[in-house]
Amino acid sequence: VQHLMKYVWVNGKLIPEKEATIPILTHALHYGTSIFEGIRAYWNSDNNNLYVFRARDHYVRFHDSAKIMSIKVGYSVDELIDATVELLRANDVHEDVYIRPITFVSASTVNLDIRNLDVTTAIITVPFGHYLEPKGIKAKVVSWLRVHNSMFPMKAKVSGIYVNSVIAIIDAKVSGFDEAILLNRDGYVAEGSGENIFIIKDGILYTPPVYDSILEGITRDTVITIARDLGLTVTEKRITREELYTADEVFFTGTAAEVTPVVNIDGRVIGNGEPGPIALKVRSYYMDVVHGRVSKYKNWLTPIY
Ligand code: PMP
Repeated sequence: VQHLMKYVWVNGKLIPEKEATIPILTHALHYGTSIFEGIRAYWNSDNNNLYVFRARDHYVRFHDSAKIMSIKVGYSVDELIDATVELLRANDVHEDVYIRPITFVSASTVNLDIRNLDVTTAIITVPFGHYLEPKGIKAKVVSWLRVHNSMFPMKAKVSGIYVNSVIAIIDAKVSGFDEAILLNRDGYVAEGSGENIFIIKDGILYTPPVYDSILEGITRDTVITIARDLGLTVTEKRITREELYTADEVFFTGTAAEVTPVVNIDGRVIGNGEPGPIALKVRSYYMDVVHGRVSKYKNWLTPIY
């Protein structure tokens, strides 16, 4: 069981975490009718402050997900940012945390037309360290395909669709790997179970385009921006499975995963089997940016104290 913090924010109020419970017939529990986000806040011990990373972009995506699902969030982007600040202060957070906003269909009914059903919006904070091993992980291209854009809009971060990620990561783990890579219906590389993917060949970074059935990751966007800043070339293009095997470097990106080098795919050693120099450089710059150590990206941060 994940250790939570003292308060959670539910429909505009701070309430003790233990009191935040849901009825058994809650629609979202049965049908996955929730939209959610995963945000990180980083503690910077140099200036004793906590910074939420790209809060606005996460809440804009939250609203986009809601619109796609015909769910009414009931709180504006600004109100959700304010709520996040209020919650982090109430929980007196002085460490790295994961922030989980969710709007779920909270009505107790078996009807599928959710348009007029009651929803609940909540924000939860969870102490959080590394999600994947930063020294490099082994990934498996699983046989389960990524849900295709024509079957469900993959731009939307909707709870129900995560069963696709769950079955994929289980496949990878039971085969002795750390993480799954999913191909899309056309056989091109889509993403990890909870990460976007980049490969590096001859010094150039490549990542699948957003129309290729992937979540438009905010870390993906951050990495594209800061890699160009470092003078690197980044190109969005379709990636094949053999391009994975023969890449010089591969890494995952995600709010939880940050920048995680992939050193082995399907038993093929990537590069020399160690995190590559470009992945390490991008990772270290990324960690500087999220901690507020790079002044030109301070506008991505929401200070809490
Ligand atoms: N793809 C999937 C399927 C994810 O769940 C995530 C994590 N939200 C990502 C990519 C990375 O997105 P972000 O960088 O916005 O966290």
